[in-house]
Amino acid sequence: MTTVNEYLASVRADIVKRDPNQPEFLEAIDNFFKTLTPVLEAHPEYVKANIVDRLIEPERVIQFRVPWVDDDGKVQVNRGFRVQFSAAIGPYKGGLRFHPTVNLSIVKFLGFEQIFKNSLTGLPIGGGKGGSDFDPKGKSDNEVMRFTQSFMTELQKYIGPDLDVPAGDIGVGAREIGYLYGQYRRLNGYQAGVLTGKGLTFGGSLARTEATGFGLLYYTDALLKAQDMAIKGKKIKISGSGNVAIYAIQKATALGATVVTASDSNGFVYDPNGIDYRIVKQIKEVERGRIKEYADRVETATYYEGSVWDFDTDYDIALPCATQNEIDGPKAERLAKNGAAVVACGANMPCTPEAVAVFKKQRVILGPAKAANAGGVAVSALEMSQNSERLAWTFEEVDNRLKDIMENIFAESAAAAEEYDLGTDYLAAANIAGFTKVADAMMAQGII
Ligand code: NDP
Repeated sequence: MTTVNEYLASVRADIVKRDPNQPEFLEAIDNFFKTLTPVLEAHPEYVKANIVDRLIEPERVIQFRVPWVDDDGKVQVNRGFRVQFSAAIGPYKGGLRFHPTVNLSIVKFLGFEQIFKNSLTGLPIGGGKGGSDFDPKGKSDNEVMRFTQSFMTELQKYIGPDLDVPAGDIGVGAREIGYLYGQYRRLNGYQAGVLTGKGLTFGGSLARTEATGFGLLYYTDALLKAQDMAIKGKKIKISGSGNVAIYAIQKATALGATVVTASDSNGFVYDPNGIDYRIVKQIKEVERGRIKEYADRVETATYYEGSVWDFDTDYDIALPCATQNEIDGPKAERLAKNGAAVVACGANMPCTPEAVAVFKKQRVILGPAKAANAGGVAVSALEMSQNSERLAWTFEEVDNRLKDIMENIFAESAAAAEEYDLGTDYLAAANIAGFTKVADAMMAQGII
């Protein structure tokens, strides 16, 4: 009889054969497979129904040309993607990323993770992701608008409020969502529920902008409490200075912690007195500047080139909020040496497999991305509910629901950790909790 590990190895061999040039997707699959054995051993029916092989194949992959004209009148061409991974528990849901590194491998890794993240929220949303290799950095507003209009002209054929509901991600913020929605509406008429992260005057939800950062802190707080620790008085290192990082800094500070760093892809600022999220917000959201400028405005802050994870300082908690694979093995060793006891992931897959192995060895507790950063998509789903109801909830109402959802995600992960005897391996626990719900839905719906 085939063992579970032999089954997973044969599924993996198939992916390598089919998609030999998708390293990020393969990394996500490997990370996931490492944690699946106990649940597959407890549920041989999942193996019999070949659930894993079916899940790793997206239900649909769309790739398209995005032509647009730059300010010099030159015709540019970018590549657009939408991967509709799984709608087993609800319409495809997941962000759009505009960044020069975007390719099918990245979109598939993000879409795959999204299935289980969305499942963990307890809300009826499936998994998808999309984007383009367009780089909004240095482009004028008009260029961004022309690009997003062209992107949506194609994408609109494949999305809808009950079919697939995109949102923002790296490089796609309020401005891009506004242009995307405008073009969708121009082509299809009013349908507020087709995109989330919209402006408040046209169907957006209060607290969506803050949701991923705030949610990360609600999750981290729950995780700390379970170890009899408190967030108050802790020193926190944060990477990134975008949407997730800004609101993580705000909530961490409000909960009594001191955030000593913020970064971008060039360098980072360090301030032992605590980073002021309002200044980061002004620089990054309003002026679209660089984090370097923070040190010009705040006397106690110093700017350094390079990765924040290569910088030595004592701290208690790491919140990577920039991008995938930002913490590798050596950076993870340094993090443990600096005294950090907990890492909670605001970014998607910010820790390489080597880093995860270091954390295990050094007993650093890891709050995995699909649990810790699920707050954004959770409030996106609440935005969809408000759009269907044609009502707008108050900030407090949305924020309270977000807090409940994040605490519940931690509680479900902790329950899975207990059921499968995983100790504080909340990465395996979140994978198992997220997977079980999707697998049960697939079992009930037959071979489709
Ligand atoms: P933003 O585009 O708002 O910000 C990204 C930040 O990360 C910027 O400060 C950027 O700096 C920095 N960054 C990007 N690439 C690198 C790099 N290679 N090295 C160092 N810093 C880098 O994105 P978000 O804040 O929305 O997203 C951050 C992460 O969180 C992503 O992994 C995203 O997938 C994840 N996420 C986001 C959600 C959301 O609701 N926004 C929800 C769940 C997850 P620079 O300006 O130099 O590029």
